[in-house]
Amino acid sequence: MEKPFIIDLHTDIASNVLEATGKDISRRYSLHEGTPKVPGVVANNNVDLPRLRGGGVKLVFTSIFALDKKSLDELIKIDQKEYNFDKLKGIKFGIEAANEQMSYYQKVFRKYPDQVVNVKTKSDFANSKKTNKVGFLIHLEGVDYIDKDLKVLQKFYDLGARSLALTWRNRNKFGSGNNTQGGLTTTGKKLIKRVRKLGMIFDLAHANEETFWETVKIVDFPIIVSHTLCKALCDNSRNLSDEQIKAVAQKGGVLGMAAIPDYIGGDTLERYVDHFEYIINLVGDDYVAFGTDFDGLVGPEDTFMEGFTGSDGFPNVIKVFQKRGFSQKTVDKICFKNAERIILNNLK
Ligand SMILES: [Zn+2]
Repeated sequence: MEKPFIIDLHTDIASNVLEATGKDISRRYSLHEGTPKVPGVVANNNVDLPRLRGGGVKLVFTSIFALDKKSLDELIKIDQKEYNFDKLKGIKFGIEAANEQMSYYQKVFRKYPDQVVNVKTKSDFANSKKTNKVGFLIHLEGVDYIDKDLKVLQKFYDLGARSLALTWRNRNKFGSGNNTQGGLTTTGKKLIKRVRKLGMIFDLAHANEETFWETVKIVDFPIIVSHTLCKALCDNSRNLSDEQIKAVAQKGGVLGMAAIPDYIGGDTLERYVDHFEYIINLVGDDYVAFGTDFDGLVGPEDTFMEGFTGSDGFPNVIKVFQKRGFSQKTVDKICFKNAERIILNNLK
C-alpha cells in the first residue's frame, strides 16, 4: 500500500515534554516510558519524529496548553466527574507556561531543521509537501493568558502560532469551556475577528454549547473543532451533537476525531471508525479529519486503542476505513484534503 499522507489537527507535544516525559522527540519512546515531573501526571509517548514519519504524518497541529491557576481552581470546585483536574495542580500556569512551551518549539525548529518545519503560511505548507519534513502548526489551547487588548496574541502570532481555541474546559474572559456555564463574551468576539484577520485557524474544541452557538452565529469562515467526537455515539461534554456537526459543515469547517477511548465509547479501531462513518452519513465526507489529541498530558491516559497508540498507527485506521468500504477519495479527504482546505482558507 502507498504510504498515507496525514494531517493531525491536535496533539500536545510541548506540555507533554515539559510537564511529563522530558522526552527527546527525535527518538522513539515506548508508550509509558519516562517519569513525569508532575506528580499524578502519566507519561504517554504517542508522538515523536520517528512515529510521525512512520505514520505518514505530513502536518501536525502542536499545542501550547496553558491555563491560569485561577481557572484550574474553579474547575476543581465545579466538576470532577469527567476529568480529574487535581492531577494538574503541579503544572506551570499562565504566561510562564505558554512562553516556556513556545520556546520549546523554537528549540525543536533550530535543532532539527532538516526534519521539522514551522508551518505559518500556505506557501510553508506547499513547500513542506515537497520535502520529507514534518510540518508543525502551533495551536494555542486554553488562552487565559492572552490580555483583553490582544497584545499577547500578537506576540504569539509573531512567534509562529497559527491556530487558537478560546478556552480549555474552563471559563475565561473570552468564553466558556465544556465543564462550565456561560457564553461568548464581547472580548471573545474581538479575539475571533483578530484571529481571522491575522490569518490563523479558529478552533471551537472545548467550547460549551452556549459559546459554540454564539460563535457559529457570528463567523463567516471555515472553523475547526480540532479534537472531538459524536455525542450520538458517546455522550460526553467534549463531543458534538448532530446539530453542532451540521453547523460546522455548513461553515465549510472540519471536525478532527480524537483517538481517546473514553470519549469514543470503546477501545477498538472499529468503534473509532464508527464516529467517522456517523459524520459521513450525517453531512457527507467533506468535514471529517483526524485530531488525535495524542501526547495529551492527562485524560484517560492508560487506555489507547490497540493498533493506534501513537502517530505511527494511522495506516491501521486506514485499513479499517477500507474494510468499511470507504472509497479512496473519501480516505484522502479524511487523511488530509479536508484539513488542507482549512489551511488554504485561513492561513495567509
Ligand atoms: Zn484538548
